[in-house]
Amino acid sequence: MRIIHSIPEMQEWSSDERSSGNSIGFVPTMGALHQGHAELFAQSVSENRKTVVSIFVNTLQFNSVSDLESYPRQLEQDQVIAELQKVDVLFIPDKDEMYPDGFASSITAGPIAQHMEGLHRPGHFDGVATVVVKLLNAVNPNVAYFGLKDFQQLAVIRSVVRDLNIKCEIKAVPTVRNSSGLALSSRNSRLSPEQLEQAQIIHALLLEMAQMARIANTSSFALKDHFTDGMMSTSAARVEYVEVVDSHTLLPATTAQDGTTICVAVWFDDVRLIDNISI
Ligand code: AMP
Repeated sequence: MRIIHSIPEMQEWSSDERSSGNSIGFVPTMGALHQGHAELFAQSVSENRKTVVSIFVNTLQFNSVSDLESYPRQLEQDQVIAELQKVDVLFIPDKDEMYPDGFASSITAGPIAQHMEGLHRPGHFDGVATVVVKLLNAVNPNVAYFGLKDFQQLAVIRSVVRDLNIKCEIKAVPTVRNSSGLALSSRNSRLSPEQLEQAQIIHALLLEMAQMARIANTSSFALKDHFTDGMMSTSAARVEYVEVVDSHTLLPATTAQDGTTICVAVWFDDVRLIDNISI
């Protein structure tokens, strides 16, 4: 596995591979890799001749200094995981490579980025959109893979790629969960054993809500209450939002029915977890 730190070197590698007729799959990450990331790598490896994974903790998308500072970093272990998954290139630019002195341009994500995550993390999706476009320009992949766990992020990236005519197919990969249903996340490592146990209720409640919606097109209000009551009665978590949205436009839906997705964000102390389920 080759490790590349500079953008020009990344672009040169990519251009050589593409002129040799090799398709490139790309998975952008912020490191602290787990089985969820590995699933994206595996899909890319199976569908492309070459796979590039980037690791970059993107300062632009953090709206809290403490979240940025406490974000888990484990580069050596990440290299082992990427190597095991047969990734061809690990692209690890540092902050100066991505945002050198004088860096001043950025992308504004559209209305799809304005509620849910966007509302509670101002500027987050502008940071995501900017870094993803920069990474796509560095790697120039045929296909890029994103997890459905970050449901709104995927929608934002699809709209940016479409609006800016970026020639790259965007593929969604289902959420990987542990045996109790908790969505794998780099942030899970910051939960105490007790919080980890309590966090399992998130997926259990989402499953119940999906079941309620399938049986009777339940109102969004009733579902929100169900989730909030369920979380509060079984855990010390604070619910930041529960939203039922149209799966394509991400606009709020009054009832949960076919074609809608329930998205939630929950805090355990200073650790924020998100999850979703599509009806
Ligand atoms: P991150 O390193 O958190 O920025 O995530 C990098 C990519 O991995 C994003 O496209 C995420 O949606 C995806 N991802 C993270 N966790 C999971 C998971 N549990 N299942 C599937 N994809 C995931």
